[in-house]
Amino acid sequence: MPNFIKPILFRTKNNISYFYDDVSQQVFHLSTKKEISDIKMIISEGNTDSLVENSRIFKLKERYNLFYRSKAYLDLDNIITNKKKKGIRQLTLEVTANCNLRCKYCIFSDYYSNTRKILTENMSEVIAIKAVDYFFSYNIEALKSNPVVSPVITFYGGEPLLNFKLIKKVIDYSNENYKKYFGDIIYSITTNGTLLDNYIINYLIDNDVATYISLDGIGEAHDRNRVNINNQGTFLKVIEKIKLFIELEKQREYVKNKFHILCVYDFKDSILKRIVKLSSNNIVGSRVKRISFVDQENTTFFKHFDFNKAAINSSRDLWCLYTKYKNENVRRIVETLYSEYLLIMSNRILHQTKVTKGCCIPGYDKLYVSFDGKFHACEKCNNHHPIGSIETGIEYSKVKEHLQFFYELHNTKCYLCEISNLCDVCYKHFETNGSELSYDEDICNRQKIKHKGLLSLYYSKKEIDLECRL
Ligand code: SF4
Ligand code: SF4
Ligand code: SF4
Repeated sequence: MPNFIKPILFRTKNNISYFYDDVSQQVFHLSTKKEISDIKMIISEGNTDSLVENSRIFKLKERYNLFYRSKAYLDLDNIITNKKKKGIRQLTLEVTANCNLRCKYCIFSDYYSNTRKILTENMSEVIAIKAVDYFFSYNIEALKSNPVVSPVITFYGGEPLLNFKLIKKVIDYSNENYKKYFGDIIYSITTNGTLLDNYIINYLIDNDVATYISLDGIGEAHDRNRVNINNQGTFLKVIEKIKLFIELEKQREYVKNKFHILCVYDFKDSILKRIVKLSSNNIVGSRVKRISFVDQENTTFFKHFDFNKAAINSSRDLWCLYTKYKNENVRRIVETLYSEYLLIMSNRILHQTKVTKGCCIPGYDKLYVSFDGKFHACEKCNNHHPIGSIETGIEYSKVKEHLQFFYELHNTKCYLCEISNLCDVCYKHFETNGSELSYDEDICNRQKIKHKGLLSLYYSKKEIDLECRL
């Protein structure tokens, strides 16, 4: 017997009402008070029994099969087997668990529970080479059924440049042994930038390594959170390295546009001022690739201020930036920010993987190898739920355990949930310090609030931007 899934009623900034139906994944415009009250009525009654037969909402329900959903029964083995054939897209190596900074919002800091912590260990060459061999051997096999496998290796930490010697070894080794199978191998690194020097920068440029440097803003906006072990801000040092990078790029006629700036926003100052200042800076303005928000789950980082108020102000500021500022860099940054968060809305028809939702199949979309040679789903996960190791390879039974958790969640909670096809929670949200994943209702409640806000934002944007391709 299918269950009633309540629609989400929302209003845009222009005061126009819509409802979202998660069963069909469609949004419908509401043009009369009667239609709005019909939606309110079915939400409060938990069924559609009182809808009048010739009403528009009733007709929409009949035509598009809205509001009722059954459980899904899926063959998990089949899902994994199909995924395995495609190869592993990305290998991320935790070349070190150490870092020379102590950024205040770092997910490895004490503000976050259930995450791994900064340690002094580096990955050894033996472990790195075994991981690389496993990754490429797997993908060479996958070439038989997927000739377009295009392997990516990413270097991660802590601060990966603390173990630059190993990064160099991995790149040189991979190019020498595996380029013949795949053509150019794609490399990338995310760094705090402080350890860059002429030699490292030239090596990264020569080897086409996409380099992402963290810079949160200009001066104090960066220094407030991104501090060294002695609690001193790092802005001056990072900007000096960015200038050096740009200078060396120019000398090498490096035009592949592989050097980018990543910015993290903590909601404590005005995002409007921060973006305007960053965008107009002639050194970094055109390089800002992405602004992301400080991770809001399982943290006490926000305990000293009114996060909800700050989030509302930020949303208002972003809307103002989007609608009023014509500066090219401002528009690009805001567009990127919007597209990242709104993409799930525009892609929702494609998002019908049901059980796994937006989740990866651990190990087969991304393979994260920690410094000790254990395999994990990705860099955002803690180290308590490995899915294999350089000794065992990816362990099918552990991958299945992850999927099984979501499968059970789906068939007990998600199939009744009004944002099931928008929800972007994954394994990392339900990790614990033990070996089990564990459901947390607060996370789901925040998801519902978030997606209602995003629906409103997305449709507000659509109303004023007819060219909007999001
Ligand atoms: S540089 Fe990265 S890993 Fe190091 S403290 Fe800052 S956020 Fe954490
Ligand atoms: S964040 Fe979640 S879905 Fe994305 S790769 Fe990591 S575990 Fe998979
Ligand atoms: S919010 Fe929770 S119940 Fe709803 S789909 Fe996401 S994980 Fe499932």
